[in-house]
Amino acid sequence: MIIKPKIRGFVCVTAHPTGCAAHIQQQIDYVKSKGAIKHGPKNVLVIGASTGFGLASRITAAFGTGSATLGIFYERPSEEGRPATPGWYNSIAFTKAARAAGHFAANINGDAFSDDVKKQAIEIIARDMGPIDLVVYSLASPRRTHPKTGVVHKSTLQPLGTPYTNKTVDPDKGVVSEITIQPADETGVADTIAVMGGEDWEMWMDALAEAKLLAPGVTTVAYTYIGPANTWPIYKDGTIGRAKLDLERASRAINAKLKAHGHGRSLISVNKALVSQASAAIPVVPLYISILYKIMKAKGTHEACIEQMQRLFADHLYNGKSPTLDSAGRIRIDDWEMRPEIQDAVSALWPQVTTENLSELTDIAGYRSEFIKLFGFGVPGVDYEAEVEPHLPML
Ligand code: NAD
Repeated sequence: MIIKPKIRGFVCVTAHPTGCAAHIQQQIDYVKSKGAIKHGPKNVLVIGASTGFGLASRITAAFGTGSATLGIFYERPSEEGRPATPGWYNSIAFTKAARAAGHFAANINGDAFSDDVKKQAIEIIARDMGPIDLVVYSLASPRRTHPKTGVVHKSTLQPLGTPYTNKTVDPDKGVVSEITIQPADETGVADTIAVMGGEDWEMWMDALAEAKLLAPGVTTVAYTYIGPANTWPIYKDGTIGRAKLDLERASRAINAKLKAHGHGRSLISVNKALVSQASAAIPVVPLYISILYKIMKAKGTHEACIEQMQRLFADHLYNGKSPTLDSAGRIRIDDWEMRPEIQDAVSALWPQVTTENLSELTDIAGYRSEFIKLFGFGVPGVDYEAEVEPHLPML
């Protein structure tokens, strides 16, 4: 099958297995080029391991610290005439590369919110790995079936209180327009907290603790975003921001439990805004990212997921001492994004951007190339005219 990108709104409905594998190799090469991370974890569980920050965390763990990894994700395999989702191909490519390098790697493709997947993970960890030193919680999901009530909660990306109007871009069409998003009601807030808040992270940690599979001194980390005031109504102060506050609440609760048992730490890392399948779905954010990339690339401070995660592990989680935290107790690897000179430059460009000058004033080209790369397209060295086998079994 010859596979080409087919973009529909903010998703690409095709993915290229060879391109995804080449993208994985680029990330592995980057981590290896930075040298071994000392004091790293032995056994790592990554929940949300197939794309974005979770995948980059897994690559850093395996190739930066030589860790054994178990990856949990929810990806669709190929069907007749239709390639699999990129996370499927990413996970196969990662697993092949990790095993070839002598690192244990196992995968569970299933719903991380379910009791069943937690049970499967515990079986694999007990049988093949031993106690876990690092749990990365990196899920981004539009819905969650609650394992106890069976209720299906759907997360929303909405402001609270009043409607929010701002500029946005359709990255595919290159059209800049104004968008107004209506505020969420209390149900929308509660549902978003149920999906993207911290309850499921706590359930994972409780399940591992009960099975006595948390190693002494275990670290667990989950990811959040803050960003500039311009986006706060839709992010930090919106439904997703409420869920992220709940994630921070959960981190404190997990910390207290770990400390009560005499060891371990739970951390929140505030990460940079990056093109991912999750962030592409948030109104306004793709325009912000396009402007941000332009400015950070010009200053030489631009990072993608893998650079961010390598820095998180090397400079914060496993630097041989305690990580540097902000006043709210969080790691800040969004520090370069939030530098005043970067944010001032974004604010100066923001009102000037129109459909006509989008390519000149923003890095919309960089946004688009990062976006299709998520699906394995536009990766140098890959022959996209060649026939490729789309039906690959999970390892
Ligand atoms: P992503 O969409 O690239 O990855 C999400 C992962 O979750 C995938 O591995 C997917 O398979 C998995 N997943 C989703 N639903 C699942 C389910 N029910 N069961 C098992 N696995 C499931 O997302 P991302 O952008 O890497 O986001 C990861 C985290 O980082 C999120 O908490 C997000 O809020 C945060 N974050 C993202 C950004 C950004 O700009 N992208 C910035 C800061 C923080």
